[in-house]
Amino acid sequence: MSVEPDSAAAPEARWDAAAQEEQRGAGVPDSFQRLWTPHRMAYIKGENKPTGTGPGEGCPFCEIPGMSDEDGLVVARGEAVYAVLNLYPYNSGHLMVVPYRHVADYADLDAAETGELAELTKRALLALRKASGAQGFNVGMNLGGVAGAGIAAHLHQHVVPRWGGDTNFMPVVGRTKVLPQLLRDTRQLLADAWPQD
Ligand SMILES: [Zn+2]
Repeated sequence: MSVEPDSAAAPEARWDAAAQEEQRGAGVPDSFQRLWTPHRMAYIKGENKPTGTGPGEGCPFCEIPGMSDEDGLVVARGEAVYAVLNLYPYNSGHLMVVPYRHVADYADLDAAETGELAELTKRALLALRKASGAQGFNVGMNLGGVAGAGIAAHLHQHVVPRWGGDTNFMPVVGRTKVLPQLLRDTRQLLADAWPQD
């Protein structure tokens, strides 16, 4: 006697069901599920890195807006700035708020870009709290390669949600980040939770 898996169930339903199961070795379960992150291997192998510093030299932040929301992992689009999931997240739900314009220095943003970057950062906090119950955030920018920017030529504001216990033995001992959810599922959750005007 077997039980048929309900493959037609909505993704949300599958997450909810799984959320009630004990997660082993990945901390306290929350609304984001724990999964391994094989996509980080792409980062280790150097994929998606620009070939130069210009906008036409493979800059992912210039290319993402031309993709569908699903393919680009875009959560929200403003007039001058958009919000996108980080492909190599520090934590589940790691968002970036990015100007459409290929600009490296925050001091070079115009007034509209500056204002909307702030506004979308606020909405990112609200969406992450609503979708995931984030208890805290790390928010900020690394400007310049020496400051740790992976793609220094096109600035981006990081919004990293934090939960108590999210730094556990896995990143510390295993040097492997355990992430709660597949990126496409995360994108949909956050897009649904994103505050509208
Ligand atoms: Zn760019």
